Amino acid sequence: MAVIQPLPMKKTVSFAADSINVFLHILTRCNLNCRHCYINPDQHGSNSLSLSAICDWLQVFAGRTSSANLILLGGEPTLHPDLPLAVRRARAMGYQSITVDTNGYLFHDFLTRVTPQDLDYLSFSLDGAERETNDKIRGKGSYDACISGIRAAKERDFHTSLIYTVSSANIHELPRMGRLLADMGIERFFIQVIGLRGDSVRAASDTNAPIRPVAREQWLSVIPRVAEEIAKSGIVVTYPKVYLDLAEPFACAGNVAENYFIFPNGRVYRCPLCEDFPLHSLAFVENKLQDMPPINEKSLFQLNIPEGCVMNRLVQPGNLEYREDGSPAYKIACCLLKEEIHP
Ligand code: SF4
Ligand code: SF4
Repeated sequence: MAVIQPLPMKKTVSFAADSINVFLHILTRCNLNCRHCYINPDQHGSNSLSLSAICDWLQVFAGRTSSANLILLGGEPTLHPDLPLAVRRARAMGYQSITVDTNGYLFHDFLTRVTPQDLDYLSFSLDGAERETNDKIRGKGSYDACISGIRAAKERDFHTSLIYTVSSANIHELPRMGRLLADMGIERFFIQVIGLRGDSVRAASDTNAPIRPVAREQWLSVIPRVAEEIAKSGIVVTYPKVYLDLAEPFACAGNVAENYFIFPNGRVYRCPLCEDFPLHSLAFVENKLQDMPPINEKSLFQLNIPEGCVMNRLVQPGNLEYREDGSPAYKIACCLLKEEIHP
């Protein structure tokens, strides 16, 4: 009798008003210089947070809900010698999940100073199935460092995920990621879209080898199909929805969800697309979270336009198309709206 394999289940991850997602950049320094890096020291500062500031800031959000999720990032967060202590303090504060995003170099013996019980996920970034493709984007040696970091993490039984930032420079290798992920035992795969932020702006205008966002047709024809293929090998795959049909509902996460993107200079944004501008709606001042006066990103979240996301309309209008009557052909979803496929 033929065995019928269950099909992967795709769902749009709705914004949850009852949980808080804290994205804390504990420093902006990094050993790499990826061409699409969104870190912008002019806007985000160049300092490292002290352990006591990290703890004070984390406590602000941990105290508000029992379902706060923490993502620790940089720069490269493992360059911070106190990262393992920060992870354990966050666990003691009651964060329901803790993830560290890393480029794989895992400085300061990170893997020997935390345990799989301390961390829910160690999330690696790789931008090519082949060394050559990845290293052209992320720098020489970064592919090998990431692969050996993943293997070392798996040997110690850490849960691992991988982030692949899709652009014109690497979309052709996305279908080959499934084999690599399965071979390494990666449990979750996050496909990201390159945004026109930080160094991405420079990379997109590089006349020698531009790194550009992929066009809508290519995104729609490749990403959902490849994501489903990869999910069939037992990996949970997440990717941004990006495009909405005109009839689909639009929601701005700034209005309906609690996401906080925090930088070491104290700026706290609710929207990642605002990060290149002094539009933050909150800031840590002397370790206290304070509202910023208008005009800030919150003023933009209120605007209702037929194109969907207001910030997209302002900073990357090139991904919009209009009909002859001037109306948009589709809407752009909130950059935080995700599709998730479970095997
Ligand atoms: S993208 Fe990440 S790994 Fe690359 S330079 Fe920026 S912070 Fe470093
Ligand atoms: S990306 Fe657009 S829709 Fe999402 S929070 Fe920012 S402004 Fe709102």
